[in-house]
Amino acid sequence: MTFEYAPAPESRAIVSIKPKYGHFINGSFVAGKKHFPTINPATEEILSHISLGGLSDVDKAVAAAQKAYTKTWSKLSGKERGKYLYRIARILQERAREFAVLETLDNGKPIRETRDIDIPLVAAHFFYHAGWADKLDYAGLGHSPQPYGVAGQIIPWNFPLLMLAWKVAPALATGNTVVLKPAETTSLTALLFAEVCQQAELPDGVVNIVTGDGSTGAAIVNHPGIHKIAFTGSTDVGKKIARAIASTDKKATLELGGKGANVVFDDAPVDEAVEGIVNGIFFNQGHVCCAGSRLILQESIADEVIEKLKVRMSKIRVGDPLDKNTDLGAINSKEQLVKIKELSAIGDAEGAERWSPQCNLSDKGFWFAPTIFTGVTQAHRIAQEEIFGPVLSILTFRTPQEAMDKANNTPFGLSAGIWSEKGSRIFWASQHLKAGVIWANTFNKFDPASPFGGYKESGWGREGGKHGLAAYLKTGKETGVK
Ligand code: NDP
Repeated sequence: MTFEYAPAPESRAIVSIKPKYGHFINGSFVAGKKHFPTINPATEEILSHISLGGLSDVDKAVAAAQKAYTKTWSKLSGKERGKYLYRIARILQERAREFAVLETLDNGKPIRETRDIDIPLVAAHFFYHAGWADKLDYAGLGHSPQPYGVAGQIIPWNFPLLMLAWKVAPALATGNTVVLKPAETTSLTALLFAEVCQQAELPDGVVNIVTGDGSTGAAIVNHPGIHKIAFTGSTDVGKKIARAIASTDKKATLELGGKGANVVFDDAPVDEAVEGIVNGIFFNQGHVCCAGSRLILQESIADEVIEKLKVRMSKIRVGDPLDKNTDLGAINSKEQLVKIKELSAIGDAEGAERWSPQCNLSDKGFWFAPTIFTGVTQAHRIAQEEIFGPVLSILTFRTPQEAMDKANNTPFGLSAGIWSEKGSRIFWASQHLKAGVIWANTFNKFDPASPFGGYKESGWGREGGKHGLAAYLKTGKETGVK
């Protein structure tokens, strides 16, 4: 006998969304000239109108950040900067529910994830970096490492507030000031974060947020007052940024796409592996740069794993992101849904076999059922390109070396997973996989102390941990300190 889940919607009463937002520059909200709507992707309801930042807005934000850098932030001791970061972290914890509901409304991801993963990790990033602020001289980065000045930060829509935290917390801890642009479809939590900066009495101009589209991002990248760029997003835009700064002395970290391999050996604990496969690709609707979007199964256990995976996928609850029972929410935008549908249709046309469980998808909003493709070969586009949705491509292998060859046969190198009971096999495989992050018998686990980043077309540099601090600091001869 099975029981139906009763609806368990989280109330949205805790959030108050303004009809229109300006930019956050020099500690205050300033009106924008042009606006565009931001919608709830689960219902297509217009939530608010966001300012489209132009060159003059970026100019003002950079000027405010420069002034704050020279007059205030660079004069504070690490201990004082740390106090602000601790304060921000605590306010984020106090307002966690408000942030979780707002993120779910604007992004479409389930409240279970914003409440239990995104927002706690956001606070953890600020706590972690607060701890570093007065210890930079002891971080093994050389004598008296120095900040760059103003950091330009451009973030995507898949983890809006978490990507802000990944960028803002290390920049502030290391003594830089910030001009940040959130993604066009998900600006609301960044704007609420601006209120947290006010509440924490962060000095004016230390954090500036200019909303807008790709042209706003390009204006930040090209601004001569920006000394360091931190970008997370698509490989295409990452390449544009690399070209734009090639003839300048701007530093950059680029966190780009991925096509993570999740390799399951025949000695793996199958039930745990199935959970890990589901978490690897269906977490956050598959809008995850390090998603385990290629499952590489040892042939002898492939039928068993696929059978169990189908049973497990039939239990994934797709629907209202605010419902606490929902596992898979809405696709973030119409454009992303079109891209997922197009690449999936290419999978059909190239001869892979598609399977999805029965799902009742709403007519309103943007939805895509959890999907697997079997019979995928390395030549298939769905084995090579980032779909960035809840779609898993399944390949098989016979020997461990073949698994490694297939896993590494991608232009990316961001993440990989290994499932095996043998420690020796895990060590062997982790030495052969060309990926910045490798999980063993788990997937999609994040911690602020752990560096994150990729090889090849997955980007440059690392964020998080000690490595992430280094990206915001001049060291050695660069500092001019003898
Ligand atoms: P983009 O790379 O276009 O967007 C990331 C950020 O960069 C956004 O804030 C965007 O602004 C901004 N941006 C866009 N163009 C420029 C530019 N020329 N110079 C500076 N900044 C710019 O990703 P999309 O949102 O368009 O998604 C496209 C694809 O990218 C997805 O289908 C997915 O495959 C991949 N992706 C990968 C992510 C990852 O973490 N690896 C994250 C997001 C997407 P705006 O939002 O206004 O366009």
